[in-house]
Parts: sequence; structure tokens; C-alpha cells
Amino acid sequence: MNPLTNNIKFLKGVGENRAKLLTKLHIYTISDLMEHFPRDYINRKSEVKIQNLEFEKQAAIIGNIVSIEKKNYGKNKSQLNVVITDGKDHLYCTWFRFASWFLKKFQIGEKIWVSGTVTEFMGNPQMIHPEIEILEEDNTQQQSFWHKRNVLPVYALTERITMNVMRNIIYNAFHLYHDFIEETLPDYILEKYRFEHRKISLQKIHFSSRLDEIEKIKKRYAFEELFYTQLMLARCKSNHQQKMSGNNFILKKTFTTKLKNSLPFELTSAQKRIIREIVHDMNSSTQMNRLLQGDVGSGKTIITVFAMLLAIENGFQAILMAPTEILAEQHFRSISNLLNNQPEIRIALLKGGNYRGKKGVKEKIKNGEIQIIIGTHALIQKDMEYQNAGFVAIDEQHRFGVKQRAVLSRKNKHPDLMYLSATPIPRSLALTVYGDLDISVLDELPPNRKPIKTLWRGATKKNLVYDEVREQLQKGRQVYIVCPLIEESAKMDLLDAETLYKRISQKIFPEFKSSLLHGRMKTAEKDEIMEKFKKKKIAILVSTTVIEVGIDVPNATVMIIEHAERFGLSQLHQLRGRVGRGSEKSFCYLIAYPPISKEGRERLNIMVETNDGFKIAEKDLELRGPGEFFGTAQSGIPTFKHANIVRDRELLKQARILAFKIINEDYDLKGSKNEILKKHYFQKYFEREKLFDF
Ligand code: ADP
Ligand code: MG
Repeated sequence: MNPLTNNIKFLKGVGENRAKLLTKLHIYTISDLMEHFPRDYINRKSEVKIQNLEFEKQAAIIGNIVSIEKKNYGKNKSQLNVVITDGKDHLYCTWFRFASWFLKKFQIGEKIWVSGTVTEFMGNPQMIHPEIEILEEDNTQQQSFWHKRNVLPVYALTERITMNVMRNIIYNAFHLYHDFIEETLPDYILEKYRFEHRKISLQKIHFSSRLDEIEKIKKRYAFEELFYTQLMLARCKSNHQQKMSGNNFILKKTFTTKLKNSLPFELTSAQKRIIREIVHDMNSSTQMNRLLQGDVGSGKTIITVFAMLLAIENGFQAILMAPTEILAEQHFRSISNLLNNQPEIRIALLKGGNYRGKKGVKEKIKNGEIQIIIGTHALIQKDMEYQNAGFVAIDEQHRFGVKQRAVLSRKNKHPDLMYLSATPIPRSLALTVYGDLDISVLDELPPNRKPIKTLWRGATKKNLVYDEVREQLQKGRQVYIVCPLIEESAKMDLLDAETLYKRISQKIFPEFKSSLLHGRMKTAEKDEIMEKFKKKKIAILVSTTVIEVGIDVPNATVMIIEHAERFGLSQLHQLRGRVGRGSEKSFCYLIAYPPISKEGRERLNIMVETNDGFKIAEKDLELRGPGEFFGTAQSGIPTFKHANIVRDRELLKQARILAFKIINEDYDLKGSKNEILKKHYFQKYFEREKLFDF
């Protein structure tokens, strides 16, 4: 056993209690501790003077304490101000929360290092909660080691693990176990990228005095993470490809051609390109695994139906699964419409629960009388049997769990699979989240689409917005109004849907019928309201963000988003996608409430500038980072410790090419040159591979 895999509690200076605290930082073993990289460095070499500090930048300053002041205010609230001087100017250091022992650390006249972000306090430079380093007596081996250093690592900490403790246990880990650090990349990769050996580079990350060197090493670790993830995806993809569907669908040009000829419009060139990709995949004997990504209204349905007909003209069934009943019904209706000149194709909708006729439909699905099956989770129930589905499409696939998605594949013999997504995902993110799939991007909207006119208005201008909306209502158009909260909240000062609904229905638009829709309602109740809205029995729908992504009400041409400053870009774009689905001009009003942050303003401006979902998604990823991009609902996104897929886009590309090449040549990593890869991969990544395998 390599001692680095030992529980961290056995490390000198840790013990049971600290080990428990360290779990909060996901540190369980000595090796985890070694990989707890500094989040920053204090550079004591550079002699920055207080005079030269720049606001909003990180800096480290050495100075003498000239005043220590504790201010009490309110109940149990206090503030600590420590002023230091470099002999000429003064820097204010301020803490709002601190323990009493912390105060005792400071003494007038003492020399101290402080580092942190410089802010402005009445024209003076200030640091709030800076890191501090008091140059006290060197009384231990570890402390005297750190005190002599010019560059000091700054670590993410947790309650009761101070910076000194963290530095000292990291010192101990390396002092005692450095020799046990094993390489995780083979020589040929290290050489290719001129990376240093892991033993050296890991040490330098914590103890180097050269910041330029540290940057280079960080790149190694970012690469390593991306590379191993891609290695996993490459293996998954290769796994899929080894699965034979055995169905070499041939374009027989019966049903497919009839569909094409009956369309009242010309397919866009993006649609044609993707249909060609799909025909190619379905024609090959390996299983198709393709993600079709396209903004709402880009025309994914026709592509899907085309693929369905290709399977059907070869004697197979086709399935489309949607996350909700309302979306399944909508698909059923639009697909039935597209095929109403081909009555020989039988289509069925299968819903959850028990209802009259369901048993008969299931029977017909089982014996093959029905060729196109559209439904919800009902399609993956235990007792569902299919005759021979050769094509399966899953709409809004991210709303199904990995296991759920696998069921339809298992119930049939490796059917060709297509996943539909109306959430534009930036390419770099798609390559890590869906890196094992082939991706088709529908990046062109049908030409007849009228762009949505988007405006953002401060909350005080809402009456002007209502005047414009009234004009639309008088023309018979319908309106969505979206609020972030359902009901009034004491914690958040936001307009809620209930309050707004009252105001809208009683004061602002009493002459029009309005309804309230939110997530705490029963599904049946929600569906009923949506149905009424579709049938134009409701003019104004006041709701939370629950309105389905795919919902299609062409006559709804106005979207008002309250507190637009609070929403992320992708979410704003998705909400906006509910309008602009008909031939009439549509409007989206973003209502913003102060205070609006700089970033919030930027988001609103981007929404006004562009309707392009991919551009918006890129920007969103850039502004919020990958973790936040999908919100909390999305699972399965690999989280990276060292890599940042926005910053490391180029590295990701290279890691992907290399990983796919290696797996292509040596799937099991049996070759002697891949020995290290094999060992590390099977230790750390193999388990996750199973998640992708269906
Ligand atoms: P998505 O599923 O991507 O949101 P749909 O497939 O529902 O989009 O298409 C949206 C609308 O655009 C439908 O009414 C469809 O008939 C129409 N449409 C699709 N492709 C074209 C095209 N090439 N030209 C004109 N209209 C199209
Ligand atoms: Mg659709």
C-alpha cells in the first residue's frame, strides 16, 4: 500500500479532530492534502508600497501596526480595524467577524504581512478580511521554514483549520512522504507537453518561489484532469460503437420522401446537413448515439420524424419519450399533423396512470401494430414491451436520469439513439458533459422566423411597458409574465407571482382574463391551465419559471420577466423562447429592479443585443463558470479541481484529441507505454465510466 492513500488522521499534526474538519475540504488522505493546491500566493519579494496599490486587485503589503481598534455596534456585532503603515502611507485592514483570540494576535508596532483584495474606504486603500502573517518568533521547524520564504501559499481553509495549521501539515506531508508520490502521466505525454514529473511539480505548487513556474505546473494538472476525463469518454464512445444495432437502415424513400414532399417549406441547410448525418449513422451497423442540439423553434421535430420514418420504412418501430405529459401531447399532435397524409403509419400516445384504452394501446405496441410511440416515463415502466423499436429519441434528455435513459435501449435491441436538447450548450462544455456522444448542432433558425424584440426597463417604467402590452392584448395576443418567487417572502425583497397576479387581474388588466401558474400546484391543475391558455381562454399567464421549455403557443407574443436582473443568461433565453413561435412579431420585456450589478447590466444588454442561443450560452458560461451554468438540476457534470473549461478551452481540445487517439489504438491500455495510464485510470476513473454505459 502506498502510504499516501492513508487516512489523513495519521499524518503528524493532524489527528482525529482535524481529520474530521478537513473532510469539509474533501481532504481524506495524505494524497488529497498534497493535492490541496494554494488558491493564491503571497509574494513577499515584490516591494509594493501602499501608495501604489490598485483598487480591486490582489496585493501583499508588509507594514507596522499603528492602531488596533475594536468597535462594538448593535447586538453582538463588532468590527476590528487594524491600520498598518509602510512608513509613508496607511492601509486599513478590517474584519467583521472574528474570534476574541484573533484580536490578541495584534500588537502596536509589530511587523505584519497582509494580503488580499484592495478596496476603497473613503479614498483610502482597505483590505477586508485579508490574510495575515505575523512575523513572530520562529519556534518550530515548520514555522521557521515558512518564515524564510519569499512566496507563501494561501490555502482555502475551513473552520478551525488556520492558515498556519494548513501550511504546517502540508509541510509535514511533503517532508515525510515526498518519495511516495507516483507519476500519473507516461513519459511520452510529459515530454510532448514539457511537463515536469509529478513528484517535482506537486512540490513546487506548494513550495516554489517562482510564480511563473507555478503557472506552468498548474497547466499540467488542468491538462491531466481534462485528459483523464476525455479518456473515459473515449472509452464510453468506443463501447457504444462496439454495440451493433444490426439495423442497417436503408433510405427506401417511401415514408421519408412522402414527408419531405408534403412539407409546406424548404428545410434549412442545417436541417439537411443533420438529416444526412443521421441517415449515415442509422445506415451503419453500429449504434447511433447522437445529441441534437438546437434552440427552441429551430426545427428539431421534423428531423426527429424523419429519423423515425427511416426506421419505420425498414420495418421497425420508433419511440419518442418526453419529460412531461404536456410535452408528449404536443409532440403527438404536431407529429400526427406532419403525418396526416400517411394514414398507414399508426401513432400512439402513451401516458402515465390508468385510463381507458391504455391496455389496448400497450398490446398494439407489443405486437407491432403501432409504429410510432410517443409518451412520458410510462414508456419505461417494467411491463412495457415493444415489438422492435429501431429508433429512440429522448426529448429534453437532461431531465431523465442516466438509468432511465438506458431502459429504452435495453428493452429493444440496441436501437439507434438520439437525444434532443433545446438548451444550447457551449461547445467546450458539451465536449465534457456529452463527450461520448456525436453532436449535431442546429444552428440556423427557419427563415420565416421573426426575431423577438427585447427591451429592458427599470421597474419604475413598468407602466409604459403595460401600455405597450395592452395594445397587444387588444389585438387578441396572449402574454406570459414570469416572477422569480411564488409567494411573498420575508427573506427576499422580490415581487412574487401571487402578489403580481392580484395586481394584474384586479388593477392593471381587469378587462382581460388572467391566471396564476406555479410549481406548487398539482400537475393536473397546471396542465389544465396550460390547456386553457393554449385554447386562448386565458389572455395573461402569471407564473413562476415552471412554464415548460418546449411549450408552443404561437399566439402568445409577449413575455414579461420580472426581476430579470436575478436570472442567469441561459434561463432568460429559455424563458424568452416561449414567445416568437408564430408569424406575429413578439416582444420580451425584461424588468429590472435596483440595485443592478455591473454583471446584471451586462446580462440584460446581451439579451437585448442577440437572439442567438449559442452566443448567449457562451457568454453565460464565461460569466458564471461551468458549475453554475446548468443550475442545480443538472447532474453528471464532471467537476474539475484544477481545470476551468472556459479558461482551458485550448488545453481541452488537445487533451481530447490525444485521449481519443490513445483509446483508438489501445482501448484496454494494455501497451507497455500506457502502463501508468492504465493503473491510474482504473484506480480513479473506471467506476464513473459505468455511468455512461448504456
Ligand atoms: P423545435 O422542436 O426545435 O423547438 P419545431 O420542430 O417544433 O422546433 O419547429 C418549430 C416550428 O418551425 C414548427 O412550426 C415547424 O413546422 C417550423 N419549421 C421547422 N422547420 C422549418 C423550415 N425549414 N422552414 C420553415 N418552418 C419550419
Ligand atoms: Mg420541439
